[in-house]
This record gives sequence, C-alpha cells and structure tokens, in this order.
Amino acid sequence: MSDMSRSARTNKRVVLLILWAVAAPLGATAVLAQPTEGAPPVVQAEATYPAVDARLDVVRLEPTTTTTVAPTTTTTVAPTTTAPAPATTAPPATTTPPPPPPAPAPAPAAAPAAVPSAEEVYRQVVPAAWRAVFSVRFEYIGGSTSWASSNGTISIAAAHRANRSELAVTIAHEFGHLIAWRYGTQAYNGAAPAGWPAYSSRPEEAWGDCVAQVFTGITDPSHGLPPCGGTSLSWTHSWLGSGPSGHPVTG
Ligand SMILES: [Zn+2]
Repeated sequence: MSDMSRSARTNKRVVLLILWAVAAPLGATAVLAQPTEGAPPVVQAEATYPAVDARLDVVRLEPTTTTTVAPTTTTTVAPTTTAPAPATTAPPATTTPPPPPPAPAPAPAAAPAAVPSAEEVYRQVVPAAWRAVFSVRFEYIGGSTSWASSNGTISIAAAHRANRSELAVTIAHEFGHLIAWRYGTQAYNGAAPAGWPAYSSRPEEAWGDCVAQVFTGITDPSHGLPPCGGTSLSWTHSWLGSGPSGHPVTG
C-alpha cells in the first residue's frame, strides 16, 4: 500500500511538471489542490493577466481615492469635531463642577459647626472619674486669655474656640489648675501634686500643660513654655491614671 501510494504521487508530480512547463511561459500560475488519499489530483491554473491589470487599476485608483478622500475627511473632521469637543466640553464639565460644590459647602458651613461646645469637649477629653469630683461650669469670653477659678468656673476665650483641638487643650489645661488647687502641695498658687518633676520658671502652668497633654494627646504648651515631656509627662500620666480616689485632697 505504501509503495503504491508513493508511485501514485510520483505520477501526479509528472503531470504537474508537464502542466507547469506548458503554463509557465504563458504567465500562468499553477496551484495544486492536494487531493485526498487516492483521489485524482486537481490542478487549477489561474491566468495572471487579469490580475496584473486589476492590480494596476487598484494602484491607480488607490492614490486617487485615498489621497483625495482621506486627507479631506481626516484633516477637516478631526480637528473640528474632535479637538473642540473633548477640550472644551468634556474636561471642564467634569472637572469644574465637583470641586466647587464640595469646597464652598463644607468650608463655610463646617467651620462654625465643626467646633463643639465646651461641655461636649469636656466630656470627651476629661475622664469621668475626674469629672465626678468637680463641678465645672463653662463661660465664653472674648480675647485670647482663658481662666480657671477655684469655684469651678472655666472661662474660655474666643481665641481658644477657633477649633476643637484648641478648645480641648484649653479645657484640659484649665482643668489641670482645678486639680492643683485641690490635690496640689499648696506651696504656691496652682502648685502641682507632691512628687511631680517640675520644670520651667512657671511650674503651675507647666503642670497644666502636662495635664492637657495627657488628657488630649495633643502637644500644645502654653505661655511659650517647652512641651511637657520626660519624667514630668510620664509622672503626670501615671498620677492621673490612678484617678482622684488614690490621692489625698489638700485644698
Ligand atoms: Zn494656665
């Protein structure tokens, strides 16, 4: 079977060669369509004459059609329709509207409403155990100086109500004075509890700063003093953490 197959192919090649020899001079191209096993070979001859003429026509028509239509359509339509549309309509319409609404709206409306009341901040910042042993009353005053009175009144200056952070630090600092008056050494006005590692030339204010920093977590010293730190901070943190019940009342 394999030998017959080979011989059959050989015979096909002979026929093809003859056809090619005849057709080649005339410019014909022979294409052999592979037959199925055993089927007679099929030979298709395609004349190249019409193909050459068509190719010339195509080449001739292409430049004419492509050069005329393409440049006119691409150059004219593209710049006019594409450039103005995306540049003028799409970007501004999408980018401009979002920023203005969010920015103006929250800014004016949020600024006044963002600062909670002194009472609210007081409850958030000072632990309940410490609030329980004092009767604090808040009042708002003008200027930039806040005060604490031994009767429990804390006067908050307008400058210290600018934002929640400033308000929180101020309340906690003044509350530190209340603590000193009741639990301090009484060595001088506003003296801190016994054992506190004092610093600076105004230890009564430095004590208030340490209390404020422990209660709020915000470092914002008063009176131009250096920030509470080191053993002064760690001592204050520990002393406040044990609560008022663990300390003797001195004043
Ligand atoms: Zn103070």
